[in-house]
Amino acid sequence: MLRLIMLGPPGAGKGTQAQKLAKRFAIPHISTGDMLRAAVKAGTPLGKKAKAFMDAGGLVPDDVIIGLVQERLKQDDCIKGFLLDGFPRTVGQAEALKDAGVVIDHVIDMEIPDDDVVVRLTGRRVCPNCNAVFHVSLSPPTKPGICDKCGSELIIRDDDKEDTVRNRLRVYHRSTAPLIAFYEGKGLLRRLNAIGSVDDVFNGMLKLIEVD
Ligand code: ADP
Ligand code: AMP
Repeated sequence: MLRLIMLGPPGAGKGTQAQKLAKRFAIPHISTGDMLRAAVKAGTPLGKKAKAFMDAGGLVPDDVIIGLVQERLKQDDCIKGFLLDGFPRTVGQAEALKDAGVVIDHVIDMEIPDDDVVVRLTGRRVCPNCNAVFHVSLSPPTKPGICDKCGSELIIRDDDKEDTVRNRLRVYHRSTAPLIAFYEGKGLLRRLNAIGSVDDVFNGMLKLIEVD
């Protein structure tokens, strides 16, 4: 059983690492960002509500996101564990998760300076089909602009523009960083240096959760 929360600023590498962990442990990678982007693309009421917040680099209101995650965690594939990526992002969301009786084993806090976040996010390229993540220079696909995993054309996320990235960092420091103390107080926080190769960070993560 492995129930993890991936914490850290946008661009820390949460999605990249979560995809590797999900594969290794055969547990679902639950990314609220991916769920919201799918809702925006499908034009659902949720997507319509979320879009303006996401485009501005702000947070979607807690009441919108909490129900979405609770429903997802009730699905059968979460029985052997799960990886929460991008949730919780506020103390209110963390309290709601606790109040719903969801048990967490580890909260991995991926530490990275703001300047590195800007480099990572402005060079990020994502696959709109399978959600694979690349970087133009730090983690390039074999064929420029094409997803290694499914062959689709890679895109730049709307919120990876430098101005929006800076706003997302402000929002992170104001609303999400308080979760570090919240989970430290519960004895669940594991600090991870997010600088280093994808494989080195992955190995560091395995050590923190005491599996290899
Ligand atoms: P998050 O999910 O935390 O927002 P991502 O996993 O999408 O972050 O990673 C952000 C960007 O940084 C992507 O372009 C990704 O390819 C790149 N990246 C992720 N991990 C590393 C790493 N260890 N070293 C260099 N670049 C990385
Ligand atoms: P991400 O893919 O995790 O970088 O999330 C992209 C955007 O989706 C964020 O900038 C927010 O606007 C929104 N979002 C994702 N997860 C949450 C959450 N837990 N709470 C509020 N907004 C969220």
